[in-house]
Amino acid sequence: MATYCEWTCDSCGYMFETNGPHEFYLGARGERQRYGHSVPRSEEAEKAGVSGLTTVAYCPVCDETHEVVIEEFDPPRNFITCWLGAHDLIEPTCPECGSRLLEELPYVPCLRCANGKLMGGVVKVT
Ligand SMILES: [Zn+2]
Ligand SMILES: [Zn+2]
Repeated sequence: MATYCEWTCDSCGYMFETNGPHEFYLGARGERQRYGHSVPRSEEAEKAGVSGLTTVAYCPVCDETHEVVIEEFDPPRNFITCWLGAHDLIEPTCPECGSRLLEELPYVPCLRCANGKLMGGVVKVT
């Protein structure tokens, strides 16, 4: 269940995307992998279960998007129950500078040109 947004500077045309949340699972070596939506994308994913959620959000200091964990499930949940019940979301912060990452940026000043503002919004919900 992810929302995809596109943000474009109304002056210089700089564009990037934010999207999330995405289910993830832990692979054989403990590495984070996309689980797939709306069905598990592999048998490995299905067996592992959903270990948490990530989001792809924008750091206004680094001027980059990062995919970061916003919730962890221990033990893993299945892909239906992971959306039910209470959620205890972690604020997305930049892994490089620690700033709060932004998932929605309407009217945020563009870092590239300093003239424009970011316009845009939701393009797709899956
Ligand atoms: Zn710009
Ligand atoms: Zn940053």
